[in-house]
Amino acid sequence: MPEGDSVHHAARRIHAALAGRRLARAELRVPRFAAVDLRGRTVERAYARGKHLFVVVGPDAAGRDPVTLHVHLKMEGRIHVHRLHVHNSGEPRAGRRWRFPAHTARLVLATGDDDEAAVEVVGTELGLLRALTPAEAAEAVAHLGPDLLDPDWDPARHLEEAVRRLAARPDRTIGEALLDQRNVAGIGTIYRAEVCFLRGVDPREPVASAGDLRAHVDLARRLLATNVVRPDRVTTGDTRRGHRLWVYGRDGRPCRRCGTLVETFRLGGGEDSLDRVAFRCPSCQPRRAPSEGGRATLGDPDQRDHDHR
Ligand SMILES: [Zn+2]
Repeated sequence: MPEGDSVHHAARRIHAALAGRRLARAELRVPRFAAVDLRGRTVERAYARGKHLFVVVGPDAAGRDPVTLHVHLKMEGRIHVHRLHVHNSGEPRAGRRWRFPAHTARLVLATGDDDEAAVEVVGTELGLLRALTPAEAAEAVAHLGPDLLDPDWDPARHLEEAVRRLAARPDRTIGEALLDQRNVAGIGTIYRAEVCFLRGVDPREPVASAGDLRAHVDLARRLLATNVVRPDRVTTGDTRRGHRLWVYGRDGRPCRRCGTLVETFRLGGGEDSLDRVAFRCPSCQPRRAPSEGGRATLGDPDQRDHDHR
């Protein structure tokens, strides 16, 4: 599952590569939108809302039908940006230069081959790719809570709204509530694990007894904002490989703070909650309220691996 920082980072890279430039190549390799022809149109901008990525393509030559591409990376999706170094051949050379199997490409957008600064953006294994009207694009994210990486983030508005949404279901676990994009947008399983650790709260704790929701959201926002501008995700302050996260992916290993073995379990799986991996240090994140017999169980390693990356 992607985290908001990687999606915003991808949007910035696409924007830097394509904004204001005309598309010489535009392929939507999904059956429903395969016939959409965006060649000759100008990309206006790319942006993210939570974990949703949008590429706004201007109208056609007749000034009609602006299109907004809606992308969700889901589990495996990646955005690749390449400079095209074109030599004398008129052949598109992208296919030979890709470092991933060509059949995984779902979206290919490129500027003119004759342009020295020609660039290509490829989306592989995208969980979702749609061509929408601007109104449909707005509707697609209307349900989201405040985006932690909103450039216009205003604590009095956005932080309070996120807290209001989280607090509306006090019996739900804080881990499920933080992952629910309708409450606050941008947190995936990594930031859920790290925020809960840093705030000393068990992810299975009900929202009502999970402590200061404002502080949880504010910390999540600061962690995402710090990491959106750097290549590796770090919550510990230590950028060395293998030292970057507190508890995520560290089940069975000693807590970096106290040495207790980190444990993992699944959380969620109800009708409106995703079943996802969670982590905690039993000493640093003790349960506060008595267990309500939540759905959390010790993790199945096969399932767990699905989320580890
Ligand atoms: Zn600990």
